[in-house]
Amino acid sequence: MSDKNLTNINQKVERLEGYEGPGFLATTLDKAVGLARKNSLWPLPFATSCCGIEFMATMASHYDLARFGSERLSFSPRQADMLMVMGTIAKKMGPVLRQVYEQMAEPKWVLSVGACASSGGIFDTYSVLQGIDRIIPVDVYVPGCPPRPEQILEGVMKIQEMVHNESLRRRNSPEYAELMASYGIK
Ligand code: SF4
Repeated sequence: MSDKNLTNINQKVERLEGYEGPGFLATTLDKAVGLARKNSLWPLPFATSCCGIEFMATMASHYDLARFGSERLSFSPRQADMLMVMGTIAKKMGPVLRQVYEQMAEPKWVLSVGACASSGGIFDTYSVLQGIDRIIPVDVYVPGCPPRPEQILEGVMKIQEMVHNESLRRRNSPEYAELMASYGIK
């Protein structure tokens, strides 16, 4: 590999913020943990319809979600920390989605991909859930029907931003307990 290519790779490595000098770097635990978590999110793709196809494109070589450290998909909720909901969610499926969310360990984040997951989309009918935020808290919404892979990537980057800046104490805060209580989740 040429020196030029090596330089390009080095430029992409994110630096840890803090006070630094020759041979030392002082930072906070929040920042170090945030940086590690941000670049190693394990997604659980809950894909039910057409938006799932866009997710497949997002995973494939052209858009390559692996660039964000998220190539390791988990179909086990206990080994995932980013729930990606893509597609129409029927009301009958709501309890399943909620169970998957509850089985994920904290800290966890939720990305609602596309109009159907976010609001029911064009399916304003008796059988379709009019937005997954009626049953679980959502961190980031991606608009579109379907959203392009670039939009899904932007949603993932927004989640990364939240993960990077989240205080380690947030999940134990009264505000977070209140949020969970509002969904009836202990
Ligand atoms: S938002 Fe559009 S593309 Fe996505 S699942 Fe719904 S109908 Fe399909």
